[in-house]
Amino acid sequence: MALLITADCINCDACEPQCPNEAIHPGEDVFVIDGEKCTECVGYFEKSQCVLVCPADCIILDPERRETRERLRDKFELLSQSAVSP
Ligand code: SF4
Ligand code: SF4
Repeated sequence: MALLITADCINCDACEPQCPNEAIHPGEDVFVIDGEKCTECVGYFEKSQCVLVCPADCIILDPERRETRERLRDKFELLSQSAVSP
């Protein structure tokens, strides 16, 4: 699953620089995660880096985006390819 930032976010910006997929950005009210880019850190880290640093515990699994670990790995491979393409 991709992750989701809830309304409890305090906009501290601790998570954004930690994301290996550059999936986190400031939103209108709170920070947001691009579900197309979030791999739950699969391919880079064992644990979701954003969750580890968030002081507000407001990053949760997005129930609308159920993805198996295999699917997350595929997403990681696709993102890696597009990162090296011109
Ligand atoms: S779980 Fe990993 S890939 Fe997903 S938003 Fe958090 S830091 Fe980025
Ligand atoms: S670390 Fe948590 S509280 Fe801080 S901006 Fe990210 S989601 Fe919001």
